[in-house]
Amino acid sequence: MKSVLSGMLVLCLLFTAGCQSREQVVSSDTVTTERRSPETDGSAAASGSGYLYQDMEYSYHTDVSQVLEYLVTDMAPEYLLLANKEHPLGEAYRPDRTVTLTCRTYLDKEIALESRTASALYAMLAEMAADGVTDIMVASGYRDYRYQVSLFNQYLNNERASISADAYAYFGQEYIQAAYLSQGKTGLSRQDAELVVRSYAAYPGTSEHQTGLCVDLLTSNTRLSRSFEDTAAFRWLSQNCHRFGFILRYPEGKTEQTGYSYEPWHYRFVGREAATEIMLRGLSLEEFLAAEAAAQQAE
Ligand SMILES: [Zn+2]
Repeated sequence: MKSVLSGMLVLCLLFTAGCQSREQVVSSDTVTTERRSPETDGSAAASGSGYLYQDMEYSYHTDVSQVLEYLVTDMAPEYLLLANKEHPLGEAYRPDRTVTLTCRTYLDKEIALESRTASALYAMLAEMAADGVTDIMVASGYRDYRYQVSLFNQYLNNERASISADAYAYFGQEYIQAAYLSQGKTGLSRQDAELVVRSYAAYPGTSEHQTGLCVDLLTSNTRLSRSFEDTAAFRWLSQNCHRFGFILRYPEGKTEQTGYSYEPWHYRFVGREAATEIMLRGLSLEEFLAAEAAAQQAE
């Protein structure tokens, strides 16, 4: 039901200015976002300027107070924080306030998240459940700098202990043969190990998980892999995550900008306004922030 509504919304926003008479499929509470600048309207969205969220009505099955708690995050700079390979957070960064999640987590792990991001996540999970999607859990959230260091070192040790499939994929069979196997070596040098690990793991200080604003999501039958795409949870998230301020952070085809390959399981909280822009326009966070900066300079 909800996905039909979202689909209709997208079509309405992209192709018509009006759409007043759309069917209210969802019962219960409705929260309408405030207009930020009256001069832009839905037709501006169709021409590529203005904000898509302005004409959106957000309808929810569940307790609206959960949603209202994090509306203040919309376009707040701390929720638009950029953390990637080019913009490391560094050793000292930590989110202002984190809470330990009370929702289902993988192996009942204790996982922390920035507090308003956690509220948004709970509201989103409640809506998913109301739509019948209950097989979903959190695999990871906030990771502090020290944890990243220990994770990175653990990966390094693995690569140095034996030559992995990742090492073969990174260097090629020929190089592995010449530099290692032919000399009776069974693991990579420190330097080569680091190159391989950097290809699949964030260097300490560059992980977005250090922001406390993102989660990795799992179902009981999936791992953190492409298999997550084939789940009801993924289909629901693709249609609805922006309504709760989340974006698919590493979309397919955006590796050049984000620095990461496609990750259908990694969701980042940016607030609803930015999330709506990013998801409905198919942008990466990097593209969105660059466009925002350019628009500010033009003012
Ligand atoms: Zn992640």
